[in-house]
Amino acid sequence: MTKPLIVITGASSGFGAAMAKMFNEQGNPMLLVARRTDRIEALPLDFKNIMVEGVDVTDREEFAAAIAKAEAKFGPTDLLVNNAGVMLLGNVMTQDPKQWQTMLDVNVMGVLNGMSIVLPEMTKREGGTIINMSSLAGKKTFVNHAAYVASKFGVHGLSETIREEVSGKNVRVAMVAPGAAETELLGHTTDTKAVTDYEAWKQTMGGVTMDPMHVAEAVNFIYSMPQDVNVREIDIAATRQD
Ligand code: NDP
Repeated sequence: MTKPLIVITGASSGFGAAMAKMFNEQGNPMLLVARRTDRIEALPLDFKNIMVEGVDVTDREEFAAAIAKAEAKFGPTDLLVNNAGVMLLGNVMTQDPKQWQTMLDVNVMGVLNGMSIVLPEMTKREGGTIINMSSLAGKKTFVNHAAYVASKFGVHGLSETIREEVSGKNVRVAMVAPGAAETELLGHTTDTKAVTDYEAWKQTMGGVTMDPMHVAEAVNFIYSMPQDVNVREIDIAATRQD
């Protein structure tokens, strides 16, 4: 039987690339989106059943057009993973407010955009799953993370709200809240002191963080449950993380 369509945002690196590899091995057709399509196209995947689209998740029209194009080819979206995200660390007294805005736009508006695009069809069909990539920073605070924490607490709040709104239609909304993992995420922070502080904090766990594949496995665990069971949230971190 043909497998249903999975849409993954932020598939050009880190968790998104790990998920793309995992679901590709399981034979699911996929729409993989990010701004850097060349990075997605360079992943070691079998592209037979994969559509790659350049999407900025803050642009709702562009995002919706990519999903419509994939659904015309592969059928309705059965799993949307709103994974795209940005973390720009800094002290609120010195950080450029444009960086707060970027995090709120991508991490919150991007998730709302994705959910609002697929939910009309999912609630009509009475099936489908949305998994939002939050963070342990969506549950507790971390110094130098003010706007990032605000965005990820936002992801927790909106995900639970929308889960309650659509649960009666048999649609699952779930979250994965990872701790620190080795990806490109920290590489975009311009505040060198914040980077040094983060690296020093990592040493409290022996400098060992999670492999992105473990986060992909958490996403797969949620998705692989029967449709009438919703694992609402998985918190996953390196054992030594505080
Ligand atoms: P990466 O920086 O490796 O990946 C981020 C991905 O998001 C990239 O594919 C990037 O693609 C994409 N992205 C960023 N901005 C946009 C945008 N405007 N439109 C579309 N895509 C965008 O980081 P991770 O893999 O670590 O991050 C994935 C998610 O996991 C994020 O939501 C992050 O907050 C969360 N997370 C990460 C943790 C970690 O320690 N790594 C811990 C907890 C949560 P491109 O630049 O090509 O557009």
